[in-house]
Amino acid sequence: MNATPADSGPVVYPVGLRRKDRRVVLVGGGQVAHRRVAGLLEAGARVTVVSPQVTPALESLVAAGALTWIRRRYEPGDLDGAWYAVAATDDHSVNAAVGEEAEQARIFCARADDRRASSVWTPAIGRHDDVVVGVHGGGDPQRAIGVRDAVVAGLTDGTIADRASREPAGGRRGSVVLVGGGPGDPGLITVRGRRAISQADVVVADHLAPQALLSSLPADVEVIDASKLPRGRSMAQEQINALLIEHAQAGKRVVRLKGGDPFVFGRGMEELEACVAAGVAVEVVPGITSAIAVPALAGIPVTHRGLTHEFVVVSGHLPPGHPNSLVDWPALGRLRGTVVVLMGVDTAPAIAAALLEHGRPGATPVAIVSDGSTAAQRTVRTTLAELPDVIAREGVRPPAVWVVGEVVGLNRPHEAPQDDDSDSD
Ligand code: SAH
Repeated sequence: MNATPADSGPVVYPVGLRRKDRRVVLVGGGQVAHRRVAGLLEAGARVTVVSPQVTPALESLVAAGALTWIRRRYEPGDLDGAWYAVAATDDHSVNAAVGEEAEQARIFCARADDRRASSVWTPAIGRHDDVVVGVHGGGDPQRAIGVRDAVVAGLTDGTIADRASREPAGGRRGSVVLVGGGPGDPGLITVRGRRAISQADVVVADHLAPQALLSSLPADVEVIDASKLPRGRSMAQEQINALLIEHAQAGKRVVRLKGGDPFVFGRGMEELEACVAAGVAVEVVPGITSAIAVPALAGIPVTHRGLTHEFVVVSGHLPPGHPNSLVDWPALGRLRGTVVVLMGVDTAPAIAAALLEHGRPGATPVAIVSDGSTAAQRTVRTTLAELPDVIAREGVRPPAVWVVGEVVGLNRPHEAPQDDDSDSD
């Protein structure tokens, strides 16, 4: 494949122009000019637009004082004092005249209409933190944009590891990032969370966190499976806190990868407090909580206009009546809105009984969604009265979220259509 069209001549010489406070003249006020302006302003240039008309977006920049607008057609001499020019009118002869003036004055000029006549080729530009990516596509702008997008996406989601950025300037300082990993599908973590993982030296992961992300880590990243730590719940939590602090104090970038959101029944605050108490720098990256995402993946909205104006997320790990329970179950029984129960498979019979006792009708629709966002995702639909029997009969196992409320009875857009073999071959 020939990447260099015959008209391109010698290869282009890429540079980074530092335009701060330097005069740049943009001739033209349409969509092309508009697209160029953002980059020029970002670089701090003093931009003058010459054009009888400008787009509303450009006009608003003029109104805000970001641009100077000379409201007339281009005239020779308009480039006086400019370091750089852009000819972006829809009139070829005007662009040619601008290019000619620029050439005479030795001002680099980008001509939007004719790359061969242009003394500058503008690359497709992308940014990721302070890394700037500029791509020349061998004369094919779409190709440049495609490569630019791929590089920026890779840097953003961590599939292109920006490893050098792992060493902060001025020496290495350990840190902890509490990352919400979402409900399990690796596509449902945030961009920032993904990036933190790509920069980690140590990842301490829960079993409900997206395991697929761990397999793509380089071999030198230590992965600690926190769900396998021995001893009871509270001891394990102390061990996790100690691990985070110990590694951070050794100068490591530690990611604590948790299922869903770190602050929704995730003990994230305990970990954060432990880090703060130990003087370790700690950051929280929120995640998509299973409380909302798992019903959504089963086609159940937790609210719906005209039907439900509230939803309550409740932990079912302690049954109603338990001395340590902090939940006002009678109030939840009186609720008309949506109740979302986490950690409540074993306790479902007791919880359903409490809701019924305090007024929720037995016919209220219920859905139990287990293994949400994974290949094993399963939805079982029933009613509040039938819930205990159905859970037992269907053998529902954690992790599961169950949802009580009229929203469960709405359309089921995500469910497979009924068997229909009329078009089978
Ligand atoms: N911080 C997590 C919740 C931790 S509590 C979050 O925001 O999602 C653990 C409970 O979350 C499980 O018992 C289950 O009720 C629910 N859960 C987490 N991931 C789930 C999944 N993929 N499918 C169904 N339920 C899930």
